[in-house]
Amino acid sequence: MELSYQAIKTANQAREADELRTETRRRNILILIYHHLTEQGYMDAARTLDQETSVGLRRFEVCDNVDLETVLMEYESYYYIKFQKHPKLTKKVLEPVESRQPRSCGKKSPPLPRIGSSRRPQSGVKKESKMVAKETSKPSSGNGHYSPPESCDFGLNVSSIPRNGAGEGPLPRKLIDYRGLIQDALKGAAADTLPTPFPPSQERLLKPISALSGMNSEMKELAAIISRDIYLNNPNVHWDDIIGLQAAKRLVKEAVVYPIKYPQLFTGILSPWKGLLLFGPPGTGKTLLAKAVATECNTTFFNISASSIVSKWRGDSEKLVRVLFELARYHAPSTIFLDELESVMGQRTGQGGEHEGSRRMKTELLVQMDGLARSDDLVFVLAASNLPWELDHAMLRRLEKRILVGLPSCPARQAMISHWLPPVSCTGGVELRTDLTYETLAQETEGYSGSDIRLVCKEAAMRPVRKIFDALESHQEGKSDMPVIELETVTTEDFLEVITHSKPSARSLTDRYSAWETEYESV
Ligand code: ADP
Repeated sequence: MELSYQAIKTANQAREADELRTETRRRNILILIYHHLTEQGYMDAARTLDQETSVGLRRFEVCDNVDLETVLMEYESYYYIKFQKHPKLTKKVLEPVESRQPRSCGKKSPPLPRIGSSRRPQSGVKKESKMVAKETSKPSSGNGHYSPPESCDFGLNVSSIPRNGAGEGPLPRKLIDYRGLIQDALKGAAADTLPTPFPPSQERLLKPISALSGMNSEMKELAAIISRDIYLNNPNVHWDDIIGLQAAKRLVKEAVVYPIKYPQLFTGILSPWKGLLLFGPPGTGKTLLAKAVATECNTTFFNISASSIVSKWRGDSEKLVRVLFELARYHAPSTIFLDELESVMGQRTGQGGEHEGSRRMKTELLVQMDGLARSDDLVFVLAASNLPWELDHAMLRRLEKRILVGLPSCPARQAMISHWLPPVSCTGGVELRTDLTYETLAQETEGYSGSDIRLVCKEAAMRPVRKIFDALESHQEGKSDMPVIELETVTTEDFLEVITHSKPSARSLTDRYSAWETEYESV
């Protein structure tokens, strides 16, 4: 008997605690909405909400680092990590909002007890509400009651609370341990789903910088500058778009993709590379490889070019480097792509010639790279250089893996030409035909980079197009009927003719790259 009385008492207490949490959560939702409306300048709507809910919303303010937008962004991030897609939060209604019936079919829900009533000790309310709201003044003695906006779901997955038949108030809702769920999702994601491709045609969502702890306002400003160099839009370069470069692709995947996908394999001696250098002649696909990393891997991609460091970061470079790595850790897993590395990290002279700020920036970059090497953070530095012999040796040591992205081989050149000049293609609604001996052209383009070959293909394709410009121009002048446009076929001779007028941009440096590779290539 004694036991069952105790059990009932405990059950009642648990139910009361649940009810209290539910009530606090609902009130917090209203406070967040009220705060959002006032922030956005919807003062009338905010006032009406305050009057309708009778909670006394004005007596509360939102705690630091929380607002409706942050809550939504966190939810979106959580959802994305768990399901690899963005949540759908709102949808168009078939009938306008005004004519919709409340979800509860018109049955008004019984009011929740007044906040601060004797049944709910004020101290308990305060303790719970700390998560989101803090009171701005003492509660008034008004007798306002809180009616949950049951019919209104704000486009969120907020469901109405099921009621028992007698309408005795809300049944306690089952509490969901979201923190645990997020951790599970992260574990699961790290174990088997990451990295997933960049969401197609969608903007990447980032955690708000405002939630970054330990940064003063100056640092946050710098963080905002760097955040502009994060790829938010899909660069849309896939591994298959890169012709040839099989070894480079494999090594990049080994360095960036697999450690995130199979973390259990990359421990101890197999701990992931922290830095990788792509070096080689210009136009051979180094940037393309980096873009493929950004497209194909679910890492936050910082696209840092020397020009942006030198021009935009002037003066603040040293601090910006520190913030860059801090941000990368915050948004991890991250890839920091340093393009044209020789312009940022040329050899330090140690003499008066070098600017003091530049020397400090280089030192900071080295310090940050060391920090990465000592940590387990999933932050990876991918660097590219056309002039590796100009690089600072201390930096080179920290870029443990060095890969030559060389001039394309004969089969790769053939694949490129047939890719850019297929037998039939369509440009601007006009059919372009080619009649090319791809093998011959591949042999004739030895020493050309991928970028050179693309230019030659473009020039060859322009030849028949040029021939129709006269017809097009005379049509415009005379305003006669549009002539039927038919382009001449691009032939092997056209292509060879273009080659005789162009020179490969990097053939002269081939030996130097090979010599440097022999001396510095990592194992
Ligand atoms: P860099 O090595 O100087 O970073 P990029 O990656 O910017 O060269 O390449 C320049 C352009 O050349 C690319 O946008 C692409 O059109 C072409 N290109 C170069 N190499 C390749 C390749 N291996 N496969 C496909 N396109 C390539």
